[in-house]
Amino acid sequence: PAAFTLSDVSKVYSNGTVALHNLDLTVHEGQFVSLLGPSGCGKSTVLRMVAGLGKMSSGNLYWGSSSQRKLAYVFQEAALMPWATVEDNVALPLKLAGLSKSAAREAVQEAIALVALQGFEKAYPRELSGGMRMRVSIARALVTKPEILLMDEPFGALDEMTRSKLNSDLLNLWGQKQWTVVFVTHNIYEAVYLSNRVVVMAARPGRVVADVAIAAPYPRT
Ligand code: ADP
Ligand code: ADP
Repeated sequence: PAAFTLSDVSKVYSNGTVALHNLDLTVHEGQFVSLLGPSGCGKSTVLRMVAGLGKMSSGNLYWGSSSQRKLAYVFQEAALMPWATVEDNVALPLKLAGLSKSAAREAVQEAIALVALQGFEKAYPRELSGGMRMRVSIARALVTKPEILLMDEPFGALDEMTRSKLNSDLLNLWGQKQWTVVFVTHNIYEAVYLSNRVVVMAARPGRVVADVAIAAPYPRT
């Protein structure tokens, strides 16, 4: 079943930039879709439209029937609160939702375990490497138990080794959880390695130019 469909979506920003032009995209439940394309082709705008961050200029977004629209968004920058510990950073979405610290504790522990940061609960962001900070950011997204994970070049700022480690950990997690993932990247190797579907976009105006199924090209553990 479909997780969501963008139907005939255009987005023109207030300065006149046409970021998306008549874009159609259906993402199915449990798919791991990479959105691939050069800088400026509208990848982030697609995620923003799905997340409801800014209005479409025209077109529609439809949700699949069983989807509860539980979204989480992971940005390129970990964007952690520097004055808060790892566990307080991860707990933030639950606190904003009104949960007490004790009510949030179990979910926070689980999210921290998912990204293999046990033992670092009381650490501060400045004490962590870039890859660990990105893990915290992912844990903060997972703590709400989302069904759809929107990731905007989450590993783009990391070195190759850290990136490849996080890639394989993300694949393992996805194998267990079967989220729907939309992963923005301009790295074709990353796209092919991670996803079972690669949607290629081109700029001027932003549109889909290829949509390719990937038949598990790499052994997945
Ligand atoms: P909208 O047309 O959706 O209302 P705005 O033009 O008001 O969007 O911009 C929203 C935000 O994006 C602003 O904070 C703006 O600084 C930022 N922004 C503006 N231009 C760009 C750009 N080329 N790329 C990324 N962000 C931009
Ligand atoms: P990508 O994620 O593929 O790099 P974006 O979706 O960020 O592409 O941007 C698509 C186009 O829209 C680019 O030309 C970008 O400069 C422009 N753009 C993005 N956000 C804004 C904004 N808030 N205001 C004006 N232009 C924007």
